[in-house]
Amino acid sequence: MSTFKAPKGTYDLLPPDSAKFLAVREAIAAPLRGSGYGYIETPGFENVELFARGVGESTDIVTKEMYAFETKGGDRLALRPEGTASVLRAALEANLHKAGNLPVKLWYSGSYYRYERPQKGRYRHFSQVGAEAIGAEDPALDAELIILADQAYRSLGLRNFRILLNSLGDKECRPVYREALQTFLRGLDLDEDTLRRAEINPLRVLDDKRESVQKQLGGAPLLRDYLCDACKAYHEEVRELVTAAGVVFEDDPKLVRGLDYYTRTTFEFVHDGLGSQSAVGGGGRYDGLSEMIGGPALPSVGWALGVDRTVLALEAEGVELELPATTSVFAVPLGDEARRVLFAKVTELRKNGVAADFAFGGKGLKAAMKAANRSGARYALVLGERDIEQGVVQLKDMESGEQTAVGMNEIVAELESRLG
Ligand code: ATP
Ligand code: MG
Repeated sequence: MSTFKAPKGTYDLLPPDSAKFLAVREAIAAPLRGSGYGYIETPGFENVELFARGVGESTDIVTKEMYAFETKGGDRLALRPEGTASVLRAALEANLHKAGNLPVKLWYSGSYYRYERPQKGRYRHFSQVGAEAIGAEDPALDAELIILADQAYRSLGLRNFRILLNSLGDKECRPVYREALQTFLRGLDLDEDTLRRAEINPLRVLDDKRESVQKQLGGAPLLRDYLCDACKAYHEEVRELVTAAGVVFEDDPKLVRGLDYYTRTTFEFVHDGLGSQSAVGGGGRYDGLSEMIGGPALPSVGWALGVDRTVLALEAEGVELELPATTSVFAVPLGDEARRVLFAKVTELRKNGVAADFAFGGKGLKAAMKAANRSGARYALVLGERDIEQGVVQLKDMESGEQTAVGMNEIVAELESRLG
């Protein structure tokens, strides 16, 4: 052990478990790649103001959870707590919205940072794969994203997740609802902090996880009773399209998002095997965000799925992913000359697309075969002095234990054909 440990609220991804994380990222990305989403990567930090404006001054993320700092040059930056604001900033900066057809469809994958109280499923460094469709107001786009996330989870073999769906209204109807909700909240027995929140961002009070708050919210006015006709029609079409795709969801009239910029469609993916960190992903429409960060009106929709919690969900359901074997062939040289010859063969195998590894460090036969076993390789190649003289190499099937001598010049083709 070294003197140092991973910082509080973080953990290292190590083999063999790390392969699961890669597979989850890949499975979430695959449906996006096949649906016209292009890959985008943005910096791990941004001007702190981008998040303050883009995520919202009154959110927990900005008030409590952000890693903000001043650089030696005097810039105020923050480690990114989420992806949407950065992706929209980058798209606007590069004028992607002017370059061609709207919507601009982008997907991303990376690390995010929030100063939270660490617990299972809640970390200070975590990983998301996200998708954003920028610059179009079309219920089919909202539906597409929900369907693609469902497809991603199902392709992983997850079953016990639920999709919660709601509409948050727009700038016509939301203010009217906000007033009504505020009036209701003012009449409740709430602590000072929550009352203050009710004044700044009353919708977020609905999201309060505390029992003492939740049990007072029974009679709260619901947004769905306040939606304007346009929002109602829009929401109805999203619901119809998602249903027609065979994707099951639940209407959740109390679902709100922690972020200020969401409008209309809002959704969350929850998994029932995760205890209180049940949200595996979430998203929705954010029609006002572009203008909030100085851009033109660009109605948009997106989601972000948490990789860490998705892995926990797989474990909760006992799903074993079919991970590709990392090493197919393990080479065991006996002696210096064999080391040179076999190392060249391993290089040749790798060039031909066969995953191969080598017994490094001058191990003896016993230790080297142990390493071959641990590698999970299907075949071992053993080369001794007598084999070199005879121009052959010993090919050992690690499953059956069967061993055959194969000509040195034939071995690459032989392995390629055996491994299919
Ligand atoms: P929660 O209500 O659990 O705090 P959130 O609303 O803050 O979640 P989002 O901002 O919507 O989460 O982020 C999308 C997804 O990213 C979440 O559904 C979750 O899977 C993941 N996520 C968010 N915060 C964390 C964290 N601190 N640790 C691990 N995963 C996280
Ligand atoms: Mg949170």
